[in-house]
Amino acid sequence: MRHVLAADIGGTQMRAAVVREDSAILARVSAPTLPGDGFDAATERLSMMFQQVAARALAPDILAIGISTAGPVDPTDGTYRHPPNLEGWHGSSMAPLLTDHLGMPVRVGHDATLAALAETRWGARSGSKHLLYLTVSTGIGAGIIVDGRPVIGASGGAGEVGHMIVAPGGASCGAGCPGCLEGNASGRAIALAAAAAIDQGAQTVLVPGSDAAAVFAAADDGDPVADTIVRGAMGHLAAGIAGLLAIFDPQAIIVGGGIAEGFAPRWDALIEAIQERALPRYSSGVPVERTTLGDEVGLLGAALWALGEE
Ligand SMILES: [Zn+2]
Repeated sequence: MRHVLAADIGGTQMRAAVVREDSAILARVSAPTLPGDGFDAATERLSMMFQQVAARALAPDILAIGISTAGPVDPTDGTYRHPPNLEGWHGSSMAPLLTDHLGMPVRVGHDATLAALAETRWGARSGSKHLLYLTVSTGIGAGIIVDGRPVIGASGGAGEVGHMIVAPGGASCGAGCPGCLEGNASGRAIALAAAAAIDQGAQTVLVPGSDAAAVFAAADDGDPVADTIVRGAMGHLAAGIAGLLAIFDPQAIIVGGGIAEGFAPRWDALIEAIQERALPRYSSGVPVERTTLGDEVGLLGAALWALGEE
């Protein structure tokens, strides 16, 4: 069977693995990304990580390297385009150095796009030709598969669904678009809403510096302020998902990321909120599910990308 090297690069952690073409992960290693230490240092570190896992996996034939990364990134050559969580990496690509060190071709793709690809192959809705992977985390973005092919966009920037306006005049995301989905339903948005409520003297168990996980926990324990914040975020997320259903008519929207986990105990309420906002064709149900691939989704997508299976 064929094997590839796969990597998943986020703002905090990067992971490398050997993946077999049947999705088995044979060896893996992770390390902090440390984007502030510079692009070259991170590339060298990833190269070492690849050599480590390749040695450990004892795979006879490793064909190629696939990298799933936080973006924006140009999938044609792997060049970063002002990535907000990988500061200082703009204009650089890991591909030339890795090819040079490891002697194999390198393909780089946007993490949400490759996660969507992994879902069409190895997820609960495998076989889908029309599928979205929506990541709801510190930020919000989507990978889009139409007719079995990833939608990349004219400049590699498609899928930034976090910046659809769902709450005109509402809170802004870090990029500064007022009322966008990311500004009103992301982990960052939930934490900022908690900070604002505390500033205004709200009666709550939340304390300054509470993150989204703390807000979900307080809401689950019955704190009314936290509950209002979570319900607000849920309504905005539902609006965004209803819009995506109308635009793409997908077989499934698979939702992943830490905030998706936070919504897990309220999943039925989220589905109901989507149905309230969606077209009548969704009155009997919406094809919106949480990912079953967990943390592996990035590595698996990177492996498919390296295998050229999209
Ligand atoms: Zn925005």
